[in-house]
Amino acid sequence: MSNIVAIVGRPNVGKSTFFNRLVERKQAIMDNESGVTRDRQYGEAQWTGKKFTVIDTGGYVTGSSDIFEKEIRKQVKAALSEATVILFMVDCHTGLTDMDKDFANVVREVGKPVFVIANKADNTEKSYMAGEFYGLGFDEVFTMSSASGSGSGEVLDAVVKLF
Ligand code: GDP
Ligand code: MG
Repeated sequence: MSNIVAIVGRPNVGKSTFFNRLVERKQAIMDNESGVTRDRQYGEAQWTGKKFTVIDTGGYVTGSSDIFEKEIRKQVKAALSEATVILFMVDCHTGLTDMDKDFANVVREVGKPVFVIANKADNTEKSYMAGEFYGLGFDEVFTMSSASGSGSGEVLDAVVKLF
């Protein structure tokens, strides 16, 4: 059975940007009804010769008051149940948010390996900021820039070590 890496986190942290980088193709996942991204997206990737499946969870919902429940119910829980390892992405630009804490509680319950990915660490200052994400209570916090790819090698080294 294939190893599965699930990328989860609240909207707009950079999950799809990282997914596209990993699978080296671009594919829109916006649903055309009401601006809601619904479906989980699967792609094949590899690092240092080790192949794995990546799941991107839809992360953009507009005009919804039950935004978090929707994400969890329809996408995140399913992705978490399939995952071998979970990349829990957060955003250095915004810092730690209440929704990050809600996600953390769900992710923690799954009992699988979790790496916190502090994304948008585009410069040294933002990498320094990533320290606050240790407050989510997971052992491993990586700083990365999905946009430039910087830091992604360290993340992937840690991921494939588990396979
Ligand atoms: P998702 O909702 O978590 O899938 O986030 P997206 O991948 O759609 O990215 C949300 C926004 O953040 C987009 O405007 C991206 O261009 C931007 N973004 C993603 N990664 C980075 C990054 O590493 N640095 C910066 N500065 N912006 C990023
Ligand atoms: Mg997305």
